[in-house]
Amino acid sequence: MMGRPGSYENIKNRQTGYLSKSDSYSILDIEIDQSFENALSSGLCDLKEKDIPLYDYKEIPEFLKGNPFVTNGYRVSLPFTLCLKSMFIWTNETINIWSHLGGFFLFIFFMLYDNIIEIPHNGGSFADHAIVTIGLICYQFCMLCSAGFHMFGCHSERASKRWLAVDLAGILIGVIGCYLPAVHYAFYCLSIWRDIYLITIAVLSGLIVFVQFHPQYFTNHWFHQRIAVYIGLVAYGVIPATHWYFLNGGWSSEIVRMFIPKVVTMYCLGMLAFAFYITKFPERFFPGWFNFIGSSHNLWHMGIVVAFVWMQTCLWIMMDYRKHHPCLQDLQIQVKHE
Ligand SMILES: [Zn+2]
Repeated sequence: MMGRPGSYENIKNRQTGYLSKSDSYSILDIEIDQSFENALSSGLCDLKEKDIPLYDYKEIPEFLKGNPFVTNGYRVSLPFTLCLKSMFIWTNETINIWSHLGGFFLFIFFMLYDNIIEIPHNGGSFADHAIVTIGLICYQFCMLCSAGFHMFGCHSERASKRWLAVDLAGILIGVIGCYLPAVHYAFYCLSIWRDIYLITIAVLSGLIVFVQFHPQYFTNHWFHQRIAVYIGLVAYGVIPATHWYFLNGGWSSEIVRMFIPKVVTMYCLGMLAFAFYITKFPERFFPGWFNFIGSSHNLWHMGIVVAFVWMQTCLWIMMDYRKHHPCLQDLQIQVKHE
């Protein structure tokens, strides 16, 4: 679908211009020239497809380029309210937005379910409530940041960079959200190791935030370094997992046979999702076929949600295991192995 003639010039003017209206303000580099209440009262869904022109890849400004195999369906430099409303029409970001908005609501549901039903049912402590809730809030934050990036990234170059930073921070928080409950339950009865690993993860995450302050960090120039930092953080999990394997007596132990395949599945899910992201499969082989649904980024988003849900189901099994195998019993098994 092509844009209206002349509209792109206006867009370029808005994109390069600074805020001039006294009644406008800016949040995360998004110029808000109409109050949010107005946007709501005008009806978020009150929109026809023709109100938002969609552009071909060759027409869009440089800051929106990145995947030439998604050939059409781009929104360009929309104002705040249209960015918000555009989630209700088909663009090449619709699935990206809704997959993670859906994830956000799903993890709110899990948070309520865990705190009201699952944890009390398993006789969990205050620490269990706190850790599981923080983990799920991390997932929710990750989902919202991502949905925000895909919703507002088309607003302007400055907003796009700012929201990319928000999106990457969200991924960092999401990874922390996986580590927290996993380490808490894996080292439930070995609090010294639990604390050591939690502190190490906090330090590593702090280092990533520190690296993000480098002015080059959010440019394409640093794309590979950015990927390497995140792979490093995720790969670090192999160390506590291997340590846990030996602490629990290796493959002969019931708990190891029960959970190591789940950890391996978690990594496989993550790697599969990342493989879609990095290879731009399937659209690389069929340019233009997956502009609106089924592109690599859609699959990457779905993969992240599935990985987080998988993590959550593992936690439920772990909680149930802890209910039937209190720490004392665990320690006795360990002594027998030594
Ligand atoms: Zn995304």
